[in-house]
Formats: sequence, structure tokens, C-alpha cells
Amino acid sequence: MNIIETNLKFGALSTRKSTKRVILHHAEASKCTAEDIHRWHLQNGWSGAGYHFLVRKDGSIYSLRPENAVGSHAKGSNSDSIGICFEGSYMTETMPQAQINAGRELVAYLKGKYGFSKVQAHRDVCSTNCPGTNFPFAEIAGATASAPTPAPAPTPAPSGPSYQAGTVYTLLADHLRVRTGPGTGYATKSRRRLTVNAREHAYSNGTLKKGTRVTCKEVKRIGDDVWIRTPSGWIAAYYGEKKYVG
Ligand SMILES: [Zn+2]
Repeated sequence: MNIIETNLKFGALSTRKSTKRVILHHAEASKCTAEDIHRWHLQNGWSGAGYHFLVRKDGSIYSLRPENAVGSHAKGSNSDSIGICFEGSYMTETMPQAQINAGRELVAYLKGKYGFSKVQAHRDVCSTNCPGTNFPFAEIAGATASAPTPAPAPTPAPSGPSYQAGTVYTLLADHLRVRTGPGTGYATKSRRRLTVNAREHAYSNGTLKKGTRVTCKEVKRIGDDVWIRTPSGWIAAYYGEKKYVG
């Protein structure tokens, strides 16, 4: 769910001490923006838009009055409620599905965020027909409380250095083993199984000398360790938090 921020300027507001319910309204205007509502309510002599949110017909959701401020939308019920206004005039119009879905989502989000389950129509608390007889109240209000969807955990940035195929690196340690695969479980290569070029930089047991230049053909990360494939075989580039190739 995406709540679009608005840059509306408000007069004096007070912070709401408790949040126990949400109250639903219609704008009683077939088409209106967040700015329209703000302007109308300023003209009423209020501090600005009295609702906290506006749900438009296309399903977009706008923030109006700051969510933690006492609203001005339902006389006698503002001190512990969040007011949501739906664009449209639902004594006569039929609400588009996109708007219903967005309303359901917003209500469910607020229920989960504040831990309340109470949803009321403006007409439940004041003498008004708001939000209109065609307003799909049950559909929107009935959305079950749900904990806010946790954002997917970001993939932790891999620790240690990063290596790239196609890059030439230098061995920082002496006697580095060349293996048949990326891991210590793979066999160590003997000198004669290295490339001709690598043999020139290898000891008799096949381990490579410090300072040898190797071309990285492939990178394999295993946990925090990084193995690179060279023309001769696999070398631990970063292993046990120690850098062997740089
Ligand atoms: Zn209302």
C-alpha cells in the first residue's frame, strides 16, 4: 500500500492522545483532490483538511491532516479517531472496485497499526447521511485487522571484498592451493595439473607463490567465503575472514 504524501500547510493542530477507531466519510463531491478538500476546510475556518486520509476513485491514497493530529471530521468523535474520506458522492454513485480495494487496505493497515477493530460510518456518530447509502461500508470496514506487512528483509550486504570475473588479481599469500572446485572439500591440484603458465609460479607441490597474477574467470561465494576460478583451478580469494587474493 502506498500513501502519497501531500505538502499541505496546516494551522494549529493538537496531537491525538488515543486512537481507537476509524470513521469513514465520502467527500460528497464526484471529483476532488487532496488540495480541494484542504482548501474547502480552510474556508470553513478550520486548520486545514479535517480528514487524515483521502482515498480516490483510482485507488490512490493521500495523506491529509498528519496522522497523529486530532482531526476535524466527526463532531464529538475526533479525539480518538482517524478520519478517512472517499472521493465521490455515494448517495447516488457506485464506488469503483479500485477505490474499495484501497479503502479496505488502508482500514486493515490502520487496524493492525493501532490494534483497534472499530470502524464506523460518519452517520453512526453524527446526524448525517455520510458516507451515503451506496457506500460499501461492510466491504471496506470488514477488512480484518492485520499486522502491517513487514518489508522483505534486505539481503545482507556480503561481508568481505568482492571479486569480478574478467579481472586480474594478485595472490597476497604464499603457498596458495589450487583446487578442482570452490571449497576445501575439493582436491588440491598437483603442479603438473596447472596451466603451463601457472607452473612457472608454483612450488613443486603445486601451491602458488605470493605475487602470482591470476585472471578470475568465475566467482563463487560460499557463506562469507569467496572462491575464484582461474585458468588452473579454484583458489580461495577470501576465506575465514582473511583475504588471500586482491
Ligand atoms: Zn462525513
